[in-house]
This record gives sequence, C-alpha cells and structure tokens, in this order.
Amino acid sequence: MSAAVGNPALLRGIGDDCAILRLTAGQELLITTDLCVEGVHFRREWHPPRSAGHRCLARGLSDIAAMGGEPVACFLSLGLPDLLPQPWANGFMRGLLALAGQFKVPLAGGDTSRSDNIIADIEVLGQAASGSAVLRNGARPGDRIFVTGELGGSAAALKGLYVGNKLTASARHRHFYPMPRLDLGRWLRQKKIPSAMIDLSDGLSIDLAHVCQESNVAAVIDTAAIPVARRASLDLAMHGGEDYELLFTATQRTRLPAKIMDIPITCIGEIQAASSRRGIVQVRDETGRVRPLKLAGWEHFRKI
Ligand SMILES: [Mg+2]
Repeated sequence: MSAAVGNPALLRGIGDDCAILRLTAGQELLITTDLCVEGVHFRREWHPPRSAGHRCLARGLSDIAAMGGEPVACFLSLGLPDLLPQPWANGFMRGLLALAGQFKVPLAGGDTSRSDNIIADIEVLGQAASGSAVLRNGARPGDRIFVTGELGGSAAALKGLYVGNKLTASARHRHFYPMPRLDLGRWLRQKKIPSAMIDLSDGLSIDLAHVCQESNVAAVIDTAAIPVARRASLDLAMHGGEDYELLFTATQRTRLPAKIMDIPITCIGEIQAASSRRGIVQVRDETGRVRPLKLAGWEHFRKI
C-alpha cells in the first residue's frame, strides 16, 4: 500500500507500528469506521474494482462531511480471498487512493488478511475546531429541513442493476463514484448554519428519523419539494440510500441561495415538536394532506 498523499497533521504513516498524528491546537478529533462487504455493499459483477475502492472511502468521508469536519487520514483493513485476481485488488486500491488524493487524506495504515469474501474496513479521522462539529441532536421545532443535491439517483442505478440493466460505471455517476460533500459541510459549519446535520447514506426517511430521534422532535416533509434525481422516482428519493448528500436543519430565519458551491440546496420541510400520535416523520402532498411516513431504508442486496 502506498500513502500517496500527505497531510501536515500526519507525522508518521505506513512503515512504523503506529501512525502518529499531531492535530492543530484547539481542534477535536472525529473518528468514523465503515465496513464494506462483498455481496452486501458491492458486487464484483456490478462494481468495477475502482468503484468499490472509491465507494469504500466515500462512505467514511461522507460521515466527516456530515459533522462539518476536515478529513486528516484514513486507515484500511482488507480481507481478500486467495483466488482474487491481483488486478482487482490493484484497481480497488487505485480507486480508493484517487479519492484520498483528491481530498488530501493520506492512507496512514492498515492491515490485510486472507478471507472468504472481500471485506474492507475503512476508518477515517477528521478534525473540527473544538465544540464546532455539527451534531444530529440540534434540530428544534420550527427549523427548516434542507437537502443538498438530488436524491434517489444511486438507488435508481442499483435498481437497474438488479433487473439486469447494463450500466456503465462512468466517473460522473454518483452510484459508482459518489462525491462526499466535504467542502459544503465545512462551509455550512463555519457559517454556523446547521442546527443539526447528517449524511444521507441509508435514505432520506431513515436518516431524517435519526435526526428527529436524536433531537427529540418530529418532521414533516413536502413531497413536491423533494429534489428527485433524473431516472429516479419519488419513492427512491425518499427511501433509497447511498446518495451521500447532506441533510441539515436551520432556523426559520435562515435564507439560503438555491445553490452553494454549485450544489443545489432545497428546503424540503420543517421540524415540529415530537408527538407520539403523529409519528416521527410525516409527509405532506400537493393537496396539503399530511400522513405519517412509513420509514424504509434501502436494504441493499439483502433480498438476494
Ligand atoms: Mg453517516
């Protein structure tokens, strides 16, 4: 493995028993870990190795983005089958390191082992000024709910793969090569805009429910306002996962432009006081009718 890129915080990376990091004074360390398992998170027949490596790191970086943090270093533990062709492993590392290079996140350590399936455990370390990381628990009744980008595109691609569509894993496709919203997340934190924030990895309905649970509030979303990606349906935009966009809440007074850093910002609803009667997330259709939303995340690959 090669570390490929440097970060001033990394004093010692691969080559010693431990990595050594020196954080800037006044910063807090953010740590996230994500497990990618072949057949659950990717399939060799669908995902080129570069895409699998990219997606593995993108999941961790997206968690750092959701806190408004700045990534510092990543660590990768890989389990690979004996019979796995070497070019697959090389492609996986190329995909992961290309994304790492783009965000200046050195691979600072890791481990490899033999394994029946491909498993990749990624750990990403990040930093944010003390007390400034955006949490899930700050949403308050009256706050507006915003999402970045468009939703459902990744799930629509995955659905296509299920039914046998031939999809080209183009570098711009957000299913194969999702781009974590790191710059936007950091900008929002620095401007102190979000009262709460999360990245959309499991799907809008489930991830919004996480914010509501942590903040002890409820939410109502306007179905007509949801930015549905091209080729996706409202259902996929509501429940499909792996878009790696950001969802954040902000006070009623917050005025945001339609785009920040060229990424669309859409107000999709509002936070309400928690109510056991109404349920945690409700949807309001074009006629104004409000009904409870059945939460359903994207259970990728579990059904097969
Ligand atoms: Mg997350």
